[in-house]
Amino acid sequence: MKLWKKICLGLIGVVVLLQIPFIYNRWQTGNLAEKISSLKSQKAKSTNQEYKDYRGIIHVHTSLGGHSTGNFDELLVGAEKNQLDFVVMTEHVSEFYDTSALTLRGFYKDTLFVGGSETSTKSDDRFLILDGFPKLTVVNKLDTKEFLYEIKSRNRLAFVTYPSRFKSWDEKIDGIEVFSLHTNSKGMNPFTFLPDALWSYRAYPGLTLARHFSRPEKSLKKFDELSKTRRLTLFAGSDAHSNLGFHLFGDDANNKFINLKFDRYEMVFRLVQTHILLPQNENFNKDSLLKALKNGNTFIGFDVLSDTSGFWFSAQNQDETKIIGEEILLEDGEINLKANAPQVSRFLLFKNGEKVFESGKTTEINFKVKEKGAYRIEVYLDSLGSPFDKMPWIISNPIYVR
Ligand SMILES: [Zn+2]
Repeated sequence: MKLWKKICLGLIGVVVLLQIPFIYNRWQTGNLAEKISSLKSQKAKSTNQEYKDYRGIIHVHTSLGGHSTGNFDELLVGAEKNQLDFVVMTEHVSEFYDTSALTLRGFYKDTLFVGGSETSTKSDDRFLILDGFPKLTVVNKLDTKEFLYEIKSRNRLAFVTYPSRFKSWDEKIDGIEVFSLHTNSKGMNPFTFLPDALWSYRAYPGLTLARHFSRPEKSLKKFDELSKTRRLTLFAGSDAHSNLGFHLFGDDANNKFINLKFDRYEMVFRLVQTHILLPQNENFNKDSLLKALKNGNTFIGFDVLSDTSGFWFSAQNQDETKIIGEEILLEDGEINLKANAPQVSRFLLFKNGEKVFESGKTTEINFKVKEKGAYRIEVYLDSLGSPFDKMPWIISNPIYVR
């Protein structure tokens, strides 16, 4: 055999051998899908009767604000198929028209859409503003301090997006996007993710991505540092653009011979959701949603791993019970912190970012605290195997013991 043929055969052999770990990964992802499917029948009933859980997505773009090829039809299908209660739109701003007014707003079938905006300040700090307003393109010419003054005077919420690039931490922000799908996807190792995607994405799009997620260490650290002294909301952002993929030989009527889109809203909305808790007797509308987001009556659920609705975290002293996001007085006694999850899982309790308790496998924990601080919970579904023993299934906002 000629030398070049030998080299070619050798190279083909190497490429084939290199695929083995990714074929194995596909088999593992299939196993993961089966485990998740079996968890559905094991879901524990919620112990909380007084509050209702509403699930939704924050940080979504369409072609209206640029950098996206998504349209309203695709967005509405994504919201309906995932049975979302709300979608917080965050269109990029335009100098010529108010994108927050032109995007989806109000109820479409059972999903409430809120017209927010994404913008940067003169200080190059990036925010999601809920909800948007026409003068935002004037206000965003200010530095962050003045910008936030204008936002607050209009009674709007200012949530930090891209926290890794944010600088003005001393200013009055309302919350931090501690988990961003966009940032997490960018942080994936392309040498392991791309071959994995090749073998597994078509059959298991959500789980192929989820297996490459990692705990947002830096943003959580920053959140814990700030929430020691002030109330803040943590949440997950999808930063859904529906613009990754390629198509060939199309016509103007959007018919494409080859049309592959990897980040369709329908798939992206399945991965991670922000849940809010409202009293059973409170109406669900834009005002109550924004109030719950401001107060931090929310938690992050990686629902692609298993439905997180029913998660519950409360604190009780002799006089009253408070929920996620609220403050409770230590008085002279002790506080009982109670958390429930809808699956057998492992709970971690953090006080001002320091782990103070770790449970075994359970659906409920009770923990007495005698010290002031911001207490928040992370829940892990160890039964799903690596990496989900290190990547949380649920991240709660804190309860503040004062
Ligand atoms: Zn964005």
